[in-house]
This record gives sequence, structure tokens and C-alpha cells, in this order.
Amino acid sequence: MIARVIVDVPVNRTNRPFDYRVPEWLVPLMKTGSRVIVPFGPRKLQGYVIGLEEAAEQGAADKLRDVEQVLDDQPPLSDELIRLGEWMSKQYLCPWVTALQAMIPAVLKGKSEKWLLASDQLEEEMCGRSPLLWELFRRKQLPLAEVEKHFPEEAMLVPGWISSGLLSTGYQVTDRVTRKQQSFVRSLLTREELAAAAESLPARAEQMRRVLQLLIEQEGQSFSVKMLQEELGITRSPLKSLESRGWIAIEQLEVYRDPYAHRRFAAAQKPVFTDQQEHVLEAVQLSIKKNEYGAFLLHGVTGSGKTEVYLEAIEETLARGREAIFLVPEISLTPQMVEKFKARFGNEVAVLHSALSQGERYDEWRKIIRKEVSVVVGARSAVFAPFQNVGLIVIDEEHESSYKQEETPRYHAREVAIWRAKENNAVLLMGSATPALETYALAERGRYTLLSMPDRVGNRPLPRVHVVDMREELRSENRSMFSRQLHEMIGERLARQEQMVLFLNRRGFSTFVMCRSCGYTLRCVHCDISLTYHRTNHTARCHYCGYTIKQPSHCPECQSEHIRFFGTGTQKVEEELARLFPGIRVIRMDVDTTSRKGAHEELLRKFRTGQGDVLLGTQMIAKGLDFPRVTLVGVIAADTSLFLPDFRAAEKTFQLLTQVGGRAGRHELEGDVVIQTYTPEHYSIMHATRHDYPSFYREEMLQRRRTGYPPYFRLVLITFSHEEVPVVIKAAHLVADYLRPRLAETTILLGPVASPIARVKDRFRFQIMLKYRDESRLPDLLAQATSAFEEWNKQQKVLMTIDVDPYVLL
Ligand code: ADP
Ligand code: ZN
Ligand code: ZN
Repeated sequence: MIARVIVDVPVNRTNRPFDYRVPEWLVPLMKTGSRVIVPFGPRKLQGYVIGLEEAAEQGAADKLRDVEQVLDDQPPLSDELIRLGEWMSKQYLCPWVTALQAMIPAVLKGKSEKWLLASDQLEEEMCGRSPLLWELFRRKQLPLAEVEKHFPEEAMLVPGWISSGLLSTGYQVTDRVTRKQQSFVRSLLTREELAAAAESLPARAEQMRRVLQLLIEQEGQSFSVKMLQEELGITRSPLKSLESRGWIAIEQLEVYRDPYAHRRFAAAQKPVFTDQQEHVLEAVQLSIKKNEYGAFLLHGVTGSGKTEVYLEAIEETLARGREAIFLVPEISLTPQMVEKFKARFGNEVAVLHSALSQGERYDEWRKIIRKEVSVVVGARSAVFAPFQNVGLIVIDEEHESSYKQEETPRYHAREVAIWRAKENNAVLLMGSATPALETYALAERGRYTLLSMPDRVGNRPLPRVHVVDMREELRSENRSMFSRQLHEMIGERLARQEQMVLFLNRRGFSTFVMCRSCGYTLRCVHCDISLTYHRTNHTARCHYCGYTIKQPSHCPECQSEHIRFFGTGTQKVEEELARLFPGIRVIRMDVDTTSRKGAHEELLRKFRTGQGDVLLGTQMIAKGLDFPRVTLVGVIAADTSLFLPDFRAAEKTFQLLTQVGGRAGRHELEGDVVIQTYTPEHYSIMHATRHDYPSFYREEMLQRRRTGYPPYFRLVLITFSHEEVPVVIKAAHLVADYLRPRLAETTILLGPVASPIARVKDRFRFQIMLKYRDESRLPDLLAQATSAFEEWNKQQKVLMTIDVDPYVLL
């Protein structure tokens, strides 16, 4: 037997399967999709078996090197996922192996050690053969390496024992066994014998009698030692004595680490659907019934009841014996969200998100592999859930940029979802109040079916939006970060004991130059994106093309001298609030206050239970939060995201303002939204104010066409980094020079130019951007360019990354 293996050497040169011979003794364990250890050059590496074949001719396999070890008894990768990996490798120009690694839990990637856990049946197999090894197994689980070292003969039999279920395997993370074990008590006696045993106990053995009593009452059940101790109020020693008398067995059994185990979930009631929900569901359910690929974009305003639609569609899918994947942005994967799913689908649900420990993630993932669940709720990487029969993939908030992975493999979960939906004849349902421009454009062109829910459930009004022109405030001598209107409204809320959310629209990188008198910002004359301020030499520079000007001392538009770079932090807002409203209770949520595990959830709980008047935060409070007592949402400075050096700046601002606005007045109390801005006339602010997505969409599409950006053009961003500027420049030019003569005439190559963030951790960064409309040869061309680069780079250690359809242009 020959195994075709993708080895863990993530470079272009080795981006293909290598053949290995499967020795006879490993054949029982060998399956497609398993991880293996293989020799590669002088090293031993982990690899993935992507195919098995019989040798074409006798002896052909003998020239090959041997697979040394099979790491899995149940392959973590299905045929579908292997093919998906191949597709991703071509689509995103990443090594196949990195795509496969992205699909499995982190625990299985590293240099983890394989452990063996024996079942009772193994004793028979092993008796006589190796009593010593059995004795070791009986006491604890053993690392495979140990067995191989001290019992080489038995080690040869291990694969067979695993495949027949006599041994199971696990992986060690650092020094913790990933499988969690608990001690359980099981009776070894019949009911009558137990009763007799209880009789025979001396009077003072009260605790032992209590245990026996329980075992009699709940005949045939096992109890965890922990639970017995808690429920019966006993110590461990009576259990030990019962064990030593041979009446009970105390066994180590595997349990899942379920982070939601301690919560109880009330079974959910379905609402009576609104007409709009009914309409949408009809279309989706029809498609689910047909068992063929169908893709839908659900455009529904905030509060229109999209979640109920998703739940119903999932239920329909499960009823047909198929599985469902529900993707949400990491940040909206809140306990409330999980609760909704658990309430509806109980133990059918696995939850995957990054707040779980590695072990917890591994456990949740294994529930899928073992077919114990049929719904997965999770962030981006849950799109790789190893289901065998996916019937539905839902992507909530489909416009969210967190669906794009910002490290290799730089995939977009939406594209992977489309691939899987097609492959499985499944339905893809994407929902948002503010769909990504690319998605909406494809829906208009008929690639997705467009469904819409324009009204809130119960005809609750959308909140009133007030736009405050901050230039006016400056003219009226108000230099505070709060406008008079927002100041007044905060005061009112405090008096009425209602809650508010204050939102600081800020991303780490907000150093554009703006005139505070007229709102004018410096923009590149070639690229129409904001220029970035450079403190060191007081210049403003375009980071797409390199255009640079000196920081002006007066505004070119109105001659005011109030022109400078821009940016405020949450901490400053908090101080200002405390100064203006003594005694105000502010709950601040930003990267500083939420870095600790669970802090995020804790702060929200505090706010929900009324321990704060104001929830103050950045992007992370914009989504998915639902607080009944919030009647005011304030956006401190809407412009900060508007002038980032990013062609999606207007779109992101529109999305943010719409999402933030959606937080107010979701329940009985009506809500107000105050947006402070220096550019109230900007179309993304105007349309967000009116909750008017279609108008925003049309205007933004015109801009994109004019400036040549997606969805009219597609982009590839190639970034280089190295400690020395001359080296990184040389690398960038090498690749640019390779590509330029070979590209189609309609393709535009911008750069090489320094990246917007020109230095990260002492590495200088340069970039090339490709803009193209139709370039079918591009993947091949980029692969060739990569090979040429790798050849040159052997001595250099320049890092090159290729980002197809990039989201972060910094
Ligand atoms: P969206 O995801 O579109 O913002 P949600 O699904 O969160 O909206 O729904 C908003 C609120 O309306 C939630 O509190 C939800 O429980 C409630 N809701 C949804 N559908 C109905 C319905 N048909 N009848 C009554 N309440 C509903
Ligand atoms: Zn430019
Ligand atoms: Zn000005």
C-alpha cells in the first residue's frame, strides 16, 4: 500500500503529495485523512494522508520510504475537507498543508505526544503475552513513545488494537492530557447482594451505607465520585473501603469539558412568525427540501427577527437528517447566543470559539467527528466542521471582516461556505442589516437569491437619529468632545435612570489629517484614500502609491489653522464623563479592560444588571448586544473610520453606524441615536441616519467604479518584510519585475511602496497591489513568482505574504 502524504513543510517547493510505503503492521490503522509521521530528508515530520493506493507493480513501493506512525484512529479529515484544502491552496496561494491544518483543532497540530488508553477487553489479548505492559496499562494511560521504547514487539501490535477498539488514543497538550477523566463508581453486586452487604456493615459505617443505598435505588447507574461526595456529604475513604471489599469499582472514565455544562437551558418557544419571516422561510425551506445548492442573502434591518429565521431553517435541516453549521462573528458569540441554540437544540449543539481552552475546543470538535451533534455554532473556523452531510450553512452578519482570516491561509469563510454548500448540495443562508458590497452586488446579479425583511418585529420604530455637526460646536466655542445635544441627552438619561451606550469609533490606526473647522481631510490625488500622518517628519503620505505632501499649517479649503491629525481614546472619554457628570457609573470596554479571559462577559453582565449608566467602548460593543433599558446611543466621532487609508472606509462607517444605531430602542422604550461628525454631508453618514442601505449601496458602487476597487476590480496584496530596508525593497522589486511583463494588459500593478504600517517589530514592510478584473492565469503566475522569490530568498529570510481579496490594507 502506498500513502500519498502532504508534509508539513509550508513552502511552494514542497506543495504537493509525496509517496510513502505503508508497512504491513500499520495497514489496519491507515485511513485517508489521518495524520502520520514520515521521514523527510533527515527529519521526521507530521503529514496528512490525502490518498491511498495499491502499488501499480510489484516492488514499486519498495523504493519508497516508510510511514513511521499513524497518529489517528479516527481520521480528522474527510475526503471533502482534503479536496477543500486543495482548492484553498490554489485559491489563496497558500501551502496545502496550512489549509489542512486550519481545519483541525490546535491540539492536533503541534508536537503533541500520543497517549494510549486501554479498555478492559485488552487484558485478554495481552494476558500471557506481556503481563508487565498490561499492568502498566491497567494503572494509567501510557505515552506511545514509552511503549515503543520498552516494548518494541507489542508496539507493532498497537495499531491493530486501536483499530479493533481495544485501545483508544489521546493527545497531550503541554503537560495536560487533553482528554478529561473523572472517577466514577459502579456497583459490582446485584441489588440483593448490595442489600445484604449493607446489612453486614457495622453500625458506625454510616457513609458507606449511604452509598450502597443510592446504588440500590438507582440500580445499574454509575455516579461520579465528585457528585457522590457532594450529594451524600461523604469523604473519599468510605468509597475506598467499598472498593477494597470488592463491592464497587472506581473507574476512570472520559468526560467532555463542556464550558456550558453548569448552565440549564429552558426549552425555547417558537414565536408566531411575522409575514416577512414567513415569506423568507418559505423560500429557504423550499430550497432545503430540494436537496440542491441554493444561496440566499437575507437583508433584514436590525431587530427584524433574523435569528428566528436561522433557527427555523436549521430545524428543518435537522428534521431531514442533515447537519447545520451556524457561523457568527467571534464577538457576537455571546452566552445569550449560545443559550438560544442550546434552548432550541439541546445536546445536538457543539460550540466552537476562541475563548475556549484548547482542550475544550478539542472536545467540542470530537463531538462532531463522533457524530454526537448535528449543529455547530461557531466563529470563522467552524466552517470546517467535519460533518459528513451538511445541509445548511448560515452566516450571520455576513459583512463582518472577521470572516476573513488574517494569517495563512488567508481564506474567507463565506467563500469556503459556498464551496462546501455546492459540494454537499446544501443551502447557504447569509444574513445582515448591512450586507457587504460584494455580496449585495452578486445578489443583484442573481448569483444569490435576495430576500428582505425591511421592518422590525412588532413594527417597533427604528430609533430617531440626530446628526450633530461638530464644526458648529467649535464655532460656538464648545471644545469638549461632547456636543451640547449629546451632553443634554446624557443628563436626561441619568435623571430618568435609563442606560446608554457611548461608542468611540476608533481603530488602532487613526492618524489622518483633518481640519476641525471645515471637516476637510487630506486625500491622495491618485488613489482617493486618506493620507496618513507621519509624526517623525510631519508629512502625510498615501500608502497605496507613495504620494507624499508636507503637513499643511493651514487648511487648503478654509485657511483655518485648526488642521491636525486626529484620534481620541476611550480613557479620555471616560475622564471627560466623570468631570461633566460627577457620580456617573461608566463601564469601559476596550482592549485594555477585556484582555482577561471572561472579562468581556463580566462587563456586559454588570451593565445588564444595571450596575452602570454608560457602556463605553469601541467596535466591540457595536454588535449583537440587546439591552432593554438602553434608550440612547451616542457616537462620539463618526469620522474616525471614515478616513482610514482603506477603500472600504465609507462602507465600514455605514455598517458601524447602522449596527450601533440598531442597539437603541429594541424593546418598549423608544430610542435616540446621536452621531457627532465633522462631515455630516458625507453620504455614508447621511444614509446611515435614514437607515437607507439601498441608497448607500448605489452611491458607494459609483465610487468603487470610479476608483477601480471591488466589486468592480479584484485585489491581490503582496507584502514583504525584513529587518533591512534595502533587502525588503529588493525582494519587492524582484517580484514586481517578474510579474509586470507577464500580467494581462488590463491588470494594474501598484507599487512597490512602503506599507501603511511601515515597520512592525523592527521589520520593514513593503507592498505590491494588483488590481484586476479578469485574470484567469493569475494564480499560476503568482505561484511561479513565489517560486522565483523562494529561490532568491534562500539566503535572505524575507517574509512574503500573498493576500487574495484582502481586507486589511495596512
Ligand atoms: P435581528 O437578528 O434581525 O436583529 P432578532 O432575531 O434578534 O433580530 O430579533 C429581535 C427581537 O425580536 C428578539 O428579541 C426576538 O426574540 C424577537 N422576535 C423575533 N421574531 C419574533 C416574532 N415573530 N414574534 C415576536 N418576537 C420576535
Ligand atoms: Zn495614492
Ligand atoms: Zn478647513
